[in-house]
Amino acid sequence: MIRRPPRSTPKPSSAASDVYKRQSYVESDDEGHGHPAKNPRKVSQCMVIIETDEGHKGYSFGANPQIVEKVISPILLGENPFFREKIWEKMMHMQRIVTQIDERILSTIDLALWDLVGIIMGQPVNNILGLYRDKVPAYASTMCGDTIKGGLSTPEEYGNFAEWCVKERGYRAVKLHGWMPPIEGAPDPKKDIMACAAVREAVGEDIPLMLDSYHFYSRMEALWIGRELEKLNFYWFEEPMDESSMSSYKWLSDQLDIPVIGPETMTGKISTRAEWIKNDVVDILRGGVGDLGGLTPLMKVAHLAESYNMAMEVHGGKEGNLHALGSMRLPGEFYERGLLHPHVDYEKPPDYLNEIMDPMDDEGFIHMPTGNGLGWKINHDYINDNLINDDAVSYTHLRAHETVLDLVCRLLLE
Ligand code: MG
Repeated sequence: MIRRPPRSTPKPSSAASDVYKRQSYVESDDEGHGHPAKNPRKVSQCMVIIETDEGHKGYSFGANPQIVEKVISPILLGENPFFREKIWEKMMHMQRIVTQIDERILSTIDLALWDLVGIIMGQPVNNILGLYRDKVPAYASTMCGDTIKGGLSTPEEYGNFAEWCVKERGYRAVKLHGWMPPIEGAPDPKKDIMACAAVREAVGEDIPLMLDSYHFYSRMEALWIGRELEKLNFYWFEEPMDESSMSSYKWLSDQLDIPVIGPETMTGKISTRAEWIKNDVVDILRGGVGDLGGLTPLMKVAHLAESYNMAMEVHGGKEGNLHALGSMRLPGEFYERGLLHPHVDYEKPPDYLNEIMDPMDDEGFIHMPTGNGLGWKINHDYINDNLINDDAVSYTHLRAHETVLDLVCRLLLE
């Protein structure tokens, strides 16, 4: 018997956020690439809670508490959460004025709304989207190269780690991120290829391998790397140049046999992906919830790619991307699991969760979450015990009782 959705029209009665401290085992270098933390430390994180007048709650993680309170909350209050398309468009339009609302914040709110709708309906989000499959093969996505002994500091270490991922852990594919500045000597196309060759040697011919290299190589450097990857029978070549230049990607993919994949970080959401398809720029499309602004636009891009018989590999893992992959046949072959490093225990849940969202079975598959909504296993006791004062993370330029829109207007006038 099919369960009918509820006939009532619940309305969000509050959109709030809790800010708390959590332990981090990863730290970013000067250019934003994550590496194992030399000294694990506490960092602050925001949990968004959207609650209806009937007491249902949807959760997500990320965003900025000031934006949630001053901009998002007024948009959400009084809206039916099933009107997610309307809410998403309203938030997206607000980006024009409040530039602090980036795609990741949009995604956090969109995911909390999907979670809320799933909780109200008593169904996992993947069931609501419509399933094509209930498990997805994962690839091991490594962190960028580093200078950590026994980490990812040499081609041989990449090879050793990839061998462990495939032969001990059961991954069905591996993606390398090469060495990037500020690592000394990076970027270096030859060193990237030496690592790729070491990984191919370590895992054998049958495992699909991908390279996500330094993102600002020149055309000629990217062409050389691509031709070397073809000799190593790599599966795809990801973001080797600045994605602002669509022409450079067309120039590259026209000359290579290896599939070139993108755009990943380029702004413009659905429209950018449509333009890249129309102009025949790449072989495989790219995007994830954090690049596009949520699960709502990600599904549109997936269907856009499908209508052109085009693969669209989903950028990044975690909850929103995983549920989306359950409903894909042609786009989205793999789940990106990581980022992984020999010194980081990916299987250990972070403090604020009781279980990780993406446990992998021995055959390298991630199964669709079966809990209602996104299927969070939130450790509310930990979060309540580690709440921090909002003042510690307040938006420094915001005056008391001033909305972000007020702030933007004031800054424009000052
Ligand atoms: Mg990438």
